[in-house]
Amino acid sequence: QKKAVFSLSDQFDQILSFIYPKILESNVQLDTNFNGKLYINGYADEIKQVLINIIFNAIEAMSLQVSKPIIKITGYQEQQQNYIKIANSGPKIPENIVETIFDPFFTTKNSGTGLGLYVCKEIINKHHGHLTCSSNENWTEFTIILPVCQVKK
Ligand code: ADP
Ligand code: MG
Repeated sequence: QKKAVFSLSDQFDQILSFIYPKILESNVQLDTNFNGKLYINGYADEIKQVLINIIFNAIEAMSLQVSKPIIKITGYQEQQQNYIKIANSGPKIPENIVETIFDPFFTTKNSGTGLGLYVCKEIINKHHGHLTCSSNENWTEFTIILPVCQVKK
């Protein structure tokens, strides 16, 4: 796959059909709010993989608990950076592991690989971006920051 300019919100629309069966099956309420197209320069397939990984993790995390599972996805641009925030209602990630979850082979699941978030972070770093997580009793939120690509359209 070649490097190209593409829209983050378009890529999100493309993965929707892929994640939707799992959303329905798990009774998750999905709220999305993209403000603009959010253009970046990079590898669209890799970015799609990041979004899918984080969303599937969110669904899995809520399957244990949560009477009312919700995923909120917001996308916006601010000062030459694109932001995508993926938040789920659900269990707090303990402070002592909230950094460790990005390490290769770290998993709390019986049949997890622990590679998902590691690969996500590698991909976002390769795109000159940042991937972080914050978590409290009510919400866990992953923030993806990627530099804006200016395009005439
Ligand atoms: P895997 O999904 O195979 O366990 P990941 O690298 O995708 O590997 O995630 C690593 C760990 O991070 C998970 O096992 C889980 O403990 C934690 N985690 C990831 N996303 C969430 C989330 N949304 N809520 C709570 N914990 C999470
Ligand atoms: Mg995973």
